[in-house]
Amino acid sequence: MIFFDNASTTLPAPEVLKAYTETAQNDYGNPSSTHAFGREANRLLETARHSLAEDFGVAKTHRVVFLSGATEANNFFLRGVAMRYQNRGKRILTSNVEHPSVRNVCQELEKEGFEVVYLPVNAKGFVEPKTLEEAMDSKTILVSIMAVNNETGAISPMEEMAKIVHRYPKAYFHVDATQAVGKENIPWQDIDAFSFSGHKIHGLKGTGALLLRSSIMPSPLHIGGGQEGGLRSGTVDVPGAVSLALAVHIAHRKRQENFAHVKAIHDELWNYLSQNPEVRLNSTLEGSPYILNFSLLHKKASVVVEALSHDGIYVSSVSACSSKGEPISYVLEAMGKSEGDARNSIRLSFDASSTLEEAKIFEQTFQTILERTVNR
Ligand code: PMP
Repeated sequence: MIFFDNASTTLPAPEVLKAYTETAQNDYGNPSSTHAFGREANRLLETARHSLAEDFGVAKTHRVVFLSGATEANNFFLRGVAMRYQNRGKRILTSNVEHPSVRNVCQELEKEGFEVVYLPVNAKGFVEPKTLEEAMDSKTILVSIMAVNNETGAISPMEEMAKIVHRYPKAYFHVDATQAVGKENIPWQDIDAFSFSGHKIHGLKGTGALLLRSSIMPSPLHIGGGQEGGLRSGTVDVPGAVSLALAVHIAHRKRQENFAHVKAIHDELWNYLSQNPEVRLNSTLEGSPYILNFSLLHKKASVVVEALSHDGIYVSSVSACSSKGEPISYVLEAMGKSEGDARNSIRLSFDASSTLEEAKIFEQTFQTILERTVNR
């Protein structure tokens, strides 16, 4: 099989699985227990926490909350900050291309009386710093902008955005970093809080973290025994935390090497697709090489994705449903693409195990499928 769907999930690394299993078998104590067995589990947990913060270079400034993944991290931070700090202002800024775990929380908060501004993106798929600058005001308590878009790979200028937000002392800058961790060089130190999932970086599903500046105290989503400094109650998944810290460590250590490898595969496919008259590229060369998005000009994306799947090649087409119930990409719509393009996009997403040979097989198979597929 050829797995070009690594933005949806990745194969767990053997070392990560081993660390998980060993911890689960040997150190299954509850880290809140006061006996020696519990204390040992707690030691592993705190070692994982420290390692994670160190790998992002924020050990002195941020705290780590272990939770189930980016969806929970985004929900917790957005809602938690909105609830805790609403007396400072009820205005939230985000982009119009965020993942549903940010977008839908914002929509809920709107129903609860918050003012949410969905900043437009440019044709390349990211918010211009000027757009953010013009929208900021003293009532804004939260800005949430993703680092790398999960559909197109568009990269937001994090450093400039952080500078703009920090001119307003009441506003926090949150970043959904799910598609950026281990891939892009992000100024983590400048960001007040960032979320990600383990399974996108060869960790395990159900693991993830939020790193947040220590002075920020969002209201918790879960009330209970007060674990994770009261921010996320529930017995902590120590093996999950250990595996996550290891996945992050490996991803950071191999970041540049993996980047160069993936870029070569991306460039091969980019060259092929940019010369293909059946295709229009939606990603840009300034974006992440891990994600390559294009639209089919005459064929139905769902039909082509299914045909590829039949031949053992796994890629993604956008599945969010429009009000009419038919899949359409709100991300591509926001970038000003036509309805046809927004309904017929395909995303290829790579990782370090992807090969040039796989790229060539994809090209041949794709060509054959296009030739035998009827126009839409
Ligand atoms: N944010 C982004 C940018 C993502 O790509 C994803 C996963 N598709 C998520 C958040 C949610 O991650 P999870 O499903 O692991 O909670």
